[in-house]
This record gives sequence, C-alpha cells and structure tokens, in this order.
Amino acid sequence: MTTEGATRDEASESEPTGSETTASEPTTYRVRLDRGACEGVFACLVRDDRFVEAADGVATIDGVDPDAFEARAGSEELSATFADDRIVDARQAARACPVNAIDVTETDARVGATEGGRE
Ligand code: SF4
Repeated sequence: MTTEGATRDEASESEPTGSETTASEPTTYRVRLDRGACEGVFACLVRDDRFVEAADGVATIDGVDPDAFEARAGSEELSATFADDRIVDARQAARACPVNAIDVTETDARVGATEGGRE
C-alpha cells in the first residue's frame, strides 16, 4: 500500500482538516478509482469535482468513459494522470471515501500520459 493509502486509512472517516494547503507548484499525480469497490456514497464529489456520478450510479472520473476504459483495461479500476495544483483536492476525496476506492500517487509521469482520456 502506498503512503497515501496509509494516510487515507487513518483519516477515512474524518472531514478534511484544512491543515493541507493547496500546492502552489503543479504536481504530477495519478488518481485511481476502483469502481468495483465504490458504493456510490459520493463523499468524493464534494471534495473534488473531477469525481462525478456515472450513468450506472457509481463514481467515475470526469471525462473518462468507464465502459470504454474497462473494455480497454479489463479492469474496473480507472486511472487518470493529472499535472496541476489540485492534488490536495484529490487526496481529500480519497480520505473521504469510506471504502478506500480512491488512491492518489504522486508520479514523475508527464501530462499526456493519461490512461483515462483526460488531458
Ligand atoms: S466516496 Fe468512494 S464510495 Fe463514495 S462515490 Fe466516491 S469513490 Fe465511490
């Protein structure tokens, strides 16, 4: 499990503390969403608007067609890579998820290496 996962476990039932500040420097990171684990609670949506409800009532990542992704990847786990200053939002969404369906990992990947079809 990643460091982020361990942190998320510790705070999974807590509201965001506000102790994190929005990164001033863009960060490249991968967001993974396990749609198989998602229970449609939608706590993530209010923390990060890149998480949205899909037609099947389960969360997806905005701009990612879960059906197309699953057909291509053979998995219910979506992933998208971002390079921006919103990693804090993604991590807050991950912490809020009661089933730990979201994982955020900082990476060296460049934007454009997106698996989920996002820019
Ligand atoms: S918070 Fe977790 S369980 Fe709820 S919709 Fe988001 S990913 Fe799914």
